[in-house]
Amino acid sequence: MKKIKGLGISSGIAIGKAFVWETPSFQEVESTIDKTSIKRDIKRLNEAISTTEAQIEKLQQTFEKEVGHQYADIFSFHLALLKDKLFKNEIERIIKEERITSESAVRKVIHRIGKIFKKDEKDFLQDRRRDIMDVIERIIHNLRGSSYAKLNLFPDEIIVARDLSPSQTVSLDKKYIRGFITAIGSATSHAAIIAKALEIPAVIAGEKAITDIKSKDTVIIDGDLGEIIIKPSKKIIAEYKKKKEKLSIRKKQLLILKNEPCETLDGKRISLHANIELPEQVDAAKKYGAEGIGLYRTEYLYLNRNDLPSEEEHFVAYKKVAEKMGKEKPVIIRTIDIGGDKFISALSLRKELNPFLGWRGIRFSLERKDIFEIQLRAIFRAAVYGNLKVMFPMISTIEEVKQSHKIIRKVKDDLKNEKKKFRDDIDVGIMVETPSAALITEQLANESAFFSIGSNDLIQYTLAVDRGNEKISHLYQPCHPAVIKLISHTIENGKKKGIWTGLCGEMASIPEIACLLIGTEMDELSMAPSAIPAVKEKIRSVKYSDMKNILKKVINFDSHNKVYKYLIANISGG
Ligand code: PEP
Ligand code: MG
Repeated sequence: MKKIKGLGISSGIAIGKAFVWETPSFQEVESTIDKTSIKRDIKRLNEAISTTEAQIEKLQQTFEKEVGHQYADIFSFHLALLKDKLFKNEIERIIKEERITSESAVRKVIHRIGKIFKKDEKDFLQDRRRDIMDVIERIIHNLRGSSYAKLNLFPDEIIVARDLSPSQTVSLDKKYIRGFITAIGSATSHAAIIAKALEIPAVIAGEKAITDIKSKDTVIIDGDLGEIIIKPSKKIIAEYKKKKEKLSIRKKQLLILKNEPCETLDGKRISLHANIELPEQVDAAKKYGAEGIGLYRTEYLYLNRNDLPSEEEHFVAYKKVAEKMGKEKPVIIRTIDIGGDKFISALSLRKELNPFLGWRGIRFSLERKDIFEIQLRAIFRAAVYGNLKVMFPMISTIEEVKQSHKIIRKVKDDLKNEKKKFRDDIDVGIMVETPSAALITEQLANESAFFSIGSNDLIQYTLAVDRGNEKISHLYQPCHPAVIKLISHTIENGKKKGIWTGLCGEMASIPEIACLLIGTEMDELSMAPSAIPAVKEKIRSVKYSDMKNILKKVINFDSHNKVYKYLIANISGG
């Protein structure tokens, strides 16, 4: 039995047999054919390409039904490549001229593509490279007659892979797959986002995941603790089965609270909202009792595609969310937060040395006004259908807020002149996710209808610790007194100026921390939909007066560890 501590990227417990998903080796010896076999081999190639196309189309349809067309769009590039005559003709040419098998010719093409892409530094091209490799893996599997879809055939499997491409992740059939473990990745990788959307437990476990786990090994994943147990004893399996059962009973029980208010024992209310990436996730938000959408990460509209979304696409997406949530419930649309670890394939963005300190969020929007205006137009138009609000990410100076407002004024004037239907009284707020913004919230409040604290970034920038780097994850400390002080300072300034403050980073979903935030007089918390019930339960079990006292005490502690331990020990029995 062996335990590996990794990073939990999607919660829950999974117990199953490991399937180590190895990508086929492209280094195999070249196999020659004689002239008479050329025709037969080209026929094999064509059949393999058609089969691959049919498989990918099927995957796309299934996924569109289950999670929505934005995920399904991941496959558009795959299909375009398979239909591309140049691609097929090049493989055929190699078969004919070099008299080698289809597999060997396909491998040759891979090597060439590999060389071209290595020379290029742009991340979006590296994404394309992964897509091409994925298509080619599928073609080779089909040439060999081995089934790439094998993953769907064995129930209770836990997928172990070095990395999962978007297409591989979405092809995991959630009816069968219990969970997945990858060696690399981060909580904001495609794999993590899709795992959360599907509610499949997942852990990133480093290279050990690949070297220590063998196919058919029994493996346990604890997505909440970020732990993996390889070849557990019968006793441990029994323990985890019980834990899993308890979790599922608890999950059902927690849903009883769905329509109950989120308030402390002494009557302090706080709104619990959901974070979503795609309109389809509104269903989960409603299922778990979200009172609104606290963060709609709209950059997902731009990912996994080779063009930019039109105003109409934005409009349709926002209208859908607004209508699904109803006239009353607030929906906060965050304008595009590209850069950092998220890239738009449709634009050739230069690779930066420090992307998280670079051309990110509002910095991008203020320079690419054309893209920003299209999004804002759609938001103001869609606002007619519900209670939409808008906020800007990555604010670090007041000028950025003022310039954004100026663009909003222009957009509204344009819409008015064009006689378009739109709502012009929607609240415009900002994300407080840089220490500079937090420290000048008193001034920023003059320009903002609300604050939403992006603690994922606020922690990263306050502690100077890359939020996606496993190596320094011990320094990623939500309860560091510096972070708590910046949060409290923001709320105090908001209150002084009569505006409300919410928090939409991951720390809101840790029940004890959520309770501490009650003590700060936070007005709203927003989190992944499935995290809402447990947070609500905990908040309903504490007193606001106690949380205020706890905050007063811990804000003067000297470390995250001391604060966190104190919270665990003192909030509703620990
Ligand atoms: C945050 O930074 O806390 C946040 C919610 O935004 P994102 O995670 O998308 O950067
Ligand atoms: Mg952020």
